[in-house]
Amino acid sequence: MTIDDTPGKGTTPSSAHEIERYGGLFARRTRGMTSSAMRDMMAVTARPEVISLATGLPDTTTFPAEDFAMLMSRVAVDSSAAALQYGPTDGLEDVRKCIVQVMAAEGTIVETDDVMVTTGGQQVIDLVCRAFLDPGDVVVAEAPTYPGAVPCFNSYEADVVQIEMDEHGMRIDLLEETLERLRLEGRRPKFIYTIPNFQNPGGVTMPLDRRKELVRIANERELVILEDNPYGLLRYEGEALPTLYSLDGGRYVIYAGTFSKILSAGLRIGWAAAPAPILERLNLGKQAADLCSSPLNQYFVVEYFKQRDWRRYLDELRGIYRRRRDVMVAALEEFLPHETTWTVPQGGLFVWAKLPDYIDTTDLLARALREHVAFVPGRAAYLDGRGGSEMRLNFSGVGDDDIREGIRRIGKIVSEQVAL
Ligand code: PMP
Repeated sequence: MTIDDTPGKGTTPSSAHEIERYGGLFARRTRGMTSSAMRDMMAVTARPEVISLATGLPDTTTFPAEDFAMLMSRVAVDSSAAALQYGPTDGLEDVRKCIVQVMAAEGTIVETDDVMVTTGGQQVIDLVCRAFLDPGDVVVAEAPTYPGAVPCFNSYEADVVQIEMDEHGMRIDLLEETLERLRLEGRRPKFIYTIPNFQNPGGVTMPLDRRKELVRIANERELVILEDNPYGLLRYEGEALPTLYSLDGGRYVIYAGTFSKILSAGLRIGWAAAPAPILERLNLGKQAADLCSSPLNQYFVVEYFKQRDWRRYLDELRGIYRRRRDVMVAALEEFLPHETTWTVPQGGLFVWAKLPDYIDTTDLLARALREHVAFVPGRAAYLDGRGGSEMRLNFSGVGDDDIREGIRRIGKIVSEQVAL
């Protein structure tokens, strides 16, 4: 597998000799840097013959090309000078108004001054690490956690302590035990990273009582929570639950949101909502990171909210993804051996499957790629080598037939392993 940031572009790993040339120059933190399993995978899965159930790609073909062209040309005609210029670090006021609307749709009331625009939700994770972490600091996360956060935690040399989940998300009893142990060791975690809705990769959702408990613990112990919520509005069934941010009332929760899953991932526009002193630090970090998120893309968001009914598009996406989830779950039932278990998420984009212990999904992936199908092996979601027989399966990026065919192929290679 190659280290590669560009979808579809393969790079050859540098030879030991080439690396040696710069050996004494790289910062210590680069030693712990790992390539994201999903990023690696993008180069492979961009090949047209591969059915990718690996990366969490929203289906961009659902966005009409004519709408895209119309909106971009309006930006060009109406706002070209500003769209082609640098913008404020915390984002355009008009985009922050759109964010206020989106958060209100989940029942979270914020003002434009409570939020800052970022380059995707991913940047919020990076900026929070940048603002809070010194090497060796403790971050508490779920087990498994978002594979894309793992390289970020590693690059800030965090000591990540992962808390087991059950079907209701992070186990609060284990969290309290862990926090108490850390307290006795004199180690105060800098933040608790959680994805309460349709967790990536676990597919589980934290119910209201657990959310309240988590916020209570953060308040009692004066700990920050980073609530990552890219999927909250992609709910296919059940009642929406309040965000941790709204339950907390602006004290200890930093909220990360994104337009990636409800509009377009290519825009790279997300946001953070946080108490003012934290927002100020994130802003300083962003000034250093990229000055501002693309004004051109921010104008596109504004134009989209002006010209189109974003809730209707979201409804359409929900319908498509709900059906794809059902197709995937039915295919798993049909093709996977009976010892396999998986989550049936109420929303989001991922199913998390557990195979029999003796199956290693990293090895399985090599065989799967030969059959032109890809998934994310479970180890990518842990920092300590666990997850060897687990896998993440995405159902949003390919159509019904490919989902079924992809699962059939995975089922075939798993059955071959089981039979060995
Ligand atoms: N957090 C989680 C849990 C995600 O699944 C993703 C995207 N896969 C992100 C953050 C980053 O999304 P973006 O930067 O596109 O907003």
